Amino acid sequence: MMDISTMTIEIEALHKEIARLAARRKEVIKQRQKACGHDRIAECDWVQSNPYSRAIPEWRICLGCRMTEVGWGPGFRVLFGEVAQKIARDDVYRMRLGLHIDDSMKGPLIRGEVTVEQLIDGARPA
Ligand SMILES: [Zn+2]
Repeated sequence: MMDISTMTIEIEALHKEIARLAARRKEVIKQRQKACGHDRIAECDWVQSNPYSRAIPEWRICLGCRMTEVGWGPGFRVLFGEVAQKIARDDVYRMRLGLHIDDSMKGPLIRGEVTVEQLIDGARPA
């Protein structure tokens, strides 16, 4: 039978390895999203959540770096290129990584108060 302290040491070493890999994964996603030209965009349709509430807008995903943005037709600020294909909403949610651009970020982006690179690095608009 394995000694409990040996097991504890082994598990703690694995926890450190997981944390190291998670940090590396986060950094790779940031670097890829900064370098990406966002020229392969897919979009899911908006949905009517129920007859009395607001609709849920389209989401776009860059197929190169998997950044996402929510918006309506002309309201996309970063993933504004031509939509290459339609995609199921569940697939967007499943595939997305790193930065998700929501409505709260668009004003600061338009006014130049924050850059996309700063948002990728985790900056929150004021
Ligand atoms: Zn991209």
